[in-house]
Amino acid sequence: MSTIIYPSPIFGPVHSRRLGLSLGINLLPGDGKACTFDCIYCECGFNADHRTQSPFPTRELVAKKLEAQLKKMHEAGEHPNVLTFAGNGEPTSNPHFPEIIDDTICLRNQYCPDAKVSVLSNATFLKQKAVHEALMKVDNNIQKLDTVDSEYIKKVDRPLSPNYNVERIIDQLKSFNGHVIIQTMFMKGCNNAGESVDNTSEYYIAPWLEAVKEIAPSEVMVYTIDRETPDTHLQKATREELDTIRDRVIAARIPCTASY
Ligand code: SF4
Repeated sequence: MSTIIYPSPIFGPVHSRRLGLSLGINLLPGDGKACTFDCIYCECGFNADHRTQSPFPTRELVAKKLEAQLKKMHEAGEHPNVLTFAGNGEPTSNPHFPEIIDDTICLRNQYCPDAKVSVLSNATFLKQKAVHEALMKVDNNIQKLDTVDSEYIKKVDRPLSPNYNVERIIDQLKSFNGHVIIQTMFMKGCNNAGESVDNTSEYYIAPWLEAVKEIAPSEVMVYTIDRETPDTHLQKATREELDTIRDRVIAARIPCTASY
């Protein structure tokens, strides 16, 4: 089974389905995966199979490597559409995330002022004021909310903290006052224990949609599995299912895209 462990702290550029030509910034170590979730669909694999022995990349290292890559791309006439914080786990878990965001915005302004700064996050550090403030500065503050059903979250996203509380996360997402994009994975099939993980039914969609309306994000991105997953019995949601969900979000006057 093939999973992807990204180099750190810079990878790519890669062409992203949702974001265009994207230069990746991985604030996790490059020798494994470390996340506050352990999603059964994670392209990096399960946490337990990829333990890391290394420290987080430092603020100085990230700035140095990012500047070198942006300079190289600039000289080659390559223009990233987006600088994307993603990689081997949760980017906001890096203790220097806020300062790194400041450095990245400065470098973006210097080398590729048209590029957006995007962060792909699972929302588990929003309670930290400095993280919240940093996310208010980025162009695309993309936060994962796969469902509002606690049992489904335990089965699929598998937060490491026993104190994870989706109601609290929704409140924190609301506190962005619209400066947030919600990203939701829809899929079918079952987990390795044989339990259904289908979140495409009305039972899951209706309360999720209500939460999305409360959060009032600038946009919603719905997507499905695209690569091999560590749980091997997961199935893609269909194009029709994703389109139907997308259209319901749009009907609530919230822009929404579906990626298949
Ligand atoms: S939140 Fe993202 S990085 Fe973390 S386990 Fe889930 S898919 Fe993987």
